[in-house]
Amino acid sequence: MTNSNIFTSPIYSVSEDGSGIAKCDGYTVFVKGAVIGDECKIEITKRNKTYGFGKLLEVIKPSPSRVEPICPQFHACGGCTLLHTDYDTQLKIKRETVLNALTRIGGFEDIFVHDTTPSVPNFNYRNKSQYPVGGSVNDVKIGFYAPRSHNVVNSASCAIENPDARIILDAFRAWMEKYRIAPYNEAEHKGTIRHIYSRSGESIMVVIVSRTREIEQLDELKNTLLNLKLSKPIGGIVVNINSQKTNTILGKYDYTIYGEKFIYAKIEEITYKVNYKSFFQVNPYTTNLLYKKALELCALTGSETVFDLYCGIGTISLFLAKGAKKVIGVEIVPEAIEDARENAKLNNIENAEFYCGAAEDVCPPLIKAGEKADVVVVDPPRKGCDEKLIDAIGKMHPDKIVYVSCNVATLARDAKLLREKYGYEMKDAFPFDQFPHSTHIECVALLTNSICVEVI
Ligand code: SAH
Repeated sequence: MTNSNIFTSPIYSVSEDGSGIAKCDGYTVFVKGAVIGDECKIEITKRNKTYGFGKLLEVIKPSPSRVEPICPQFHACGGCTLLHTDYDTQLKIKRETVLNALTRIGGFEDIFVHDTTPSVPNFNYRNKSQYPVGGSVNDVKIGFYAPRSHNVVNSASCAIENPDARIILDAFRAWMEKYRIAPYNEAEHKGTIRHIYSRSGESIMVVIVSRTREIEQLDELKNTLLNLKLSKPIGGIVVNINSQKTNTILGKYDYTIYGEKFIYAKIEEITYKVNYKSFFQVNPYTTNLLYKKALELCALTGSETVFDLYCGIGTISLFLAKGAKKVIGVEIVPEAIEDARENAKLNNIENAEFYCGAAEDVCPPLIKAGEKADVVVVDPPRKGCDEKLIDAIGKMHPDKIVYVSCNVATLARDAKLLREKYGYEMKDAFPFDQFPHSTHIECVALLTNSICVEVI
């Protein structure tokens, strides 16, 4: 008996979640676990109108790009969805994804996408690790959420974490078990410990996210952590209180049980103070290359006013300040703006100003008050720029816009708007592999405008 749901197909490409894409008589089927270049036997398990999902029954002929995933939790975790694909192929997939998005969504038909800049190394690269805590007092689980759920799965190791983060996690788990500290129970909104998070720069900081303000045996925990053999000293241990029933990890209130709420981190010759609540790029091996590319594309001569929108702790602003007349940074998180202002002082940079608020709200009145940027850098979160901001930038008519993007779909959408409404062109794009083994892509692109507009 034949089953019309079973077919064989090559894997042609890779979807946003790392699934292989197969074709069954022209019908697109997404297959978890399949690698680009595999020849597979697949069973369609779910059909939608224009595409379906399939189960990988057999790899008939493995792709030359297929490798054994080095993580035992590869199938359970859902973080490193490309771990079964060799690194060179991952880089090619990312370049191709950027090209597809810019041509299909953005309509940039002649765009040139450069080779993806690799991360060296591409394992154990993360400077920040954040683990959810669950299970019960008798069976503490610390690790990751099972895909599309909030069930915490224990993790014994992680291929991309910082080795110090693992040492901290193991000590933390032992402390919870020894003193029977209750993990947070999301369904019942009971228990105590929600997350454990560490971030590494010149020193390491540890953040314990708790539902309750009081946690028992904190002194013991502090002593344990301070006695660990880590590659750097611990600079701070913070308790963050998140008593809300929410998916947001961090709460508003906190207190330190040791040291500071921030660490220092260095990128090239600039030292940054990074509050634990502020955004900071997670891959220190490519971040400097990414920022250097942004600086190169700005091609500053020293006479320019630069807007750095979505500036975080002033990372890119301070990178650019030495080459510009003035930099204006805008960022929505108050702690990050405080860091940005301090970072300017720390690095003796006097030509950088920072404003706190949503870029789309802060920029229009700034421009109205007479500020005019020659160069605008935007580095928005995944949802991209607000259209109000695109309009404010377009009407201000800077010579250059340097777009740093962590989501190429919104880069394509925003660049299209800037081209159609304001005449900005984009000739090439530079992908950076900030997130090896996942499908996430960081990308920098330069938008220029040769149309001369009378600014009213
Ligand atoms: N350029 C920085 C930060 C980039 S991440 C760096 O490379 O380190 C994006 C930043 O945008 C985050 O700091 C986030 O807090 C901020 N953000 C999010 N929405 C915003 C908005 N509407 N206006 C201004 N900043 C925003």
